[in-house]
Amino acid sequence: MERFTDKRDTIYSFQDEFLLQCPSCQSCAIVRRIDPEDVSSFAPRRFSCKACGTSKDWSERKIVRSWYGQPVDDYFHYPLWLKVPCCGQMLWAYNLQHLDFIEAFVRAELRERKPDEQSGWSNRSLFSRLPKWMQSRKNREAILKAIAKIRQSV
Ligand SMILES: [Zn+2]
Repeated sequence: MERFTDKRDTIYSFQDEFLLQCPSCQSCAIVRRIDPEDVSSFAPRRFSCKACGTSKDWSERKIVRSWYGQPVDDYFHYPLWLKVPCCGQMLWAYNLQHLDFIEAFVRAELRERKPDEQSGWSNRSLFSRLPKWMQSRKNREAILKAIAKIRQSV
């Protein structure tokens, strides 16, 4: 039996990189921190598309996130690259690490959660914020197939 232990990842853990669809040429493009050493959520970001050479910088004081809303990145609000319709919903991930996380969650037969030693149970944990349909055992096979399909697009 596979076990899945919530390592208290939050959505913030997956902000290092976003794979996006370039709005100019529809190719797969990327958003990264301009300074890789600056780990702040508000560190300036750069969008760059290798296919058409588009490059754009982000430096603002505010992030608008739509976790249950549109599958777009937090900074430029461009469409995410890693997405596929699944179970009447849209399955999406910011990047491959995020996709790995979702896959590990869905694969796990036994899900464990441990309260944080300092703050106790917290719904900031990404684990507890995955939508209900992803947590449903009956959707398991369909979700794993959808994830495999997304991987082929990278
Ligand atoms: Zn482009």
